[in-house]
Amino acid sequence: MTTLYTAQWVLPIASATIEDGAVVVEGALIAGVGTRAELLARFPNADVRDYGAAALLPGFVNCHTHLELTAMRGYLEPEESDFFAWLRKLTLARLLKMTPDDLYVSAAWGAVEAARAGVTSVGDASASAEEAMRALGDVGLRGIVYQEVFGPEPELAAEQFAKLHERVAHLQAFESDLVRLGVSPHSPYTVSARLLEMVSDFAVNETFPLMIHTAESAAEELLIREGRGTFAESFAQRDIAWSAPGLSSVQYLARCGVLRARPLLAHCIRVDEQDIVMIKEAGASVAHCPKSNAKLGHGHAPYHLFKKIAHGFGSDSVASNNTCDMLEE
Ligand SMILES: [Zn+2]
Repeated sequence: MTTLYTAQWVLPIASATIEDGAVVVEGALIAGVGTRAELLARFPNADVRDYGAAALLPGFVNCHTHLELTAMRGYLEPEESDFFAWLRKLTLARLLKMTPDDLYVSAAWGAVEAARAGVTSVGDASASAEEAMRALGDVGLRGIVYQEVFGPEPELAAEQFAKLHERVAHLQAFESDLVRLGVSPHSPYTVSARLLEMVSDFAVNETFPLMIHTAESAAEELLIREGRGTFAESFAQRDIAWSAPGLSSVQYLARCGVLRARPLLAHCIRVDEQDIVMIKEAGASVAHCPKSNAKLGHGHAPYHLFKKIAHGFGSDSVASNNTCDMLEE
């Protein structure tokens, strides 16, 4: 079946804007992009759908999100000025209150909301990747779902890694032409150096995409540079061994071998010019999350520094944004 979509504007992005334009779709493929007159002549038998005063453009890529948390919209607002409390409430709610069915419904809800906002591809970090992969497949979005792994206790690294390894073997059955599996050691403050090394080696050797939250908060920076702050206090209370490396987050991840996996780094707010050089030389990419960063009071990334680095926008989860809409970013 051939359909010719017309609108006042067509924005191919890779080439110039077309006034009074059209896009021809045959099955699942784009068969032509041009002016309405030109494509009507080339495809005289196509069904025509006219959108009038509108712009047709490629789908948006939401580089960083957590679709499984869509059901938490507004739930964490009382904690949003305290990142540690926010993260703790989120983690406990996901672990203790949400069943696999809940997580699937939440992820599918997020995927539908993304599609309605013009998003066609997502980089989705998920503690329950199976549900997120199924949700993307059912809604018809393209994406990479990164199975998250946590574990700040160095002595548990081998055990956590073995669980991830087993999980990944199970999840590969859910991959498709549109949905790919990746891995995500959650962050430098929730994953020990040993586990970061193991997951990074695994991603490099098995060619899995890797995503990690990086240089997001003041608490993260204090922990890694100086061994102080809320994360450091939590480590002390839980008897988790920690000796501050005295580095930036990006330098620390490089030392743990994470940059070898050419990771997708989410947030990258607290980065300096030296960090940027390391990101660029590693061939890593960056997901900026402006609304989430602002809502949680983390500040904003130094956008002007990210030249010649592959970077894009992410909505982060609805728990830290309330919307999944790239135009809002
Ligand atoms: Zn995130």
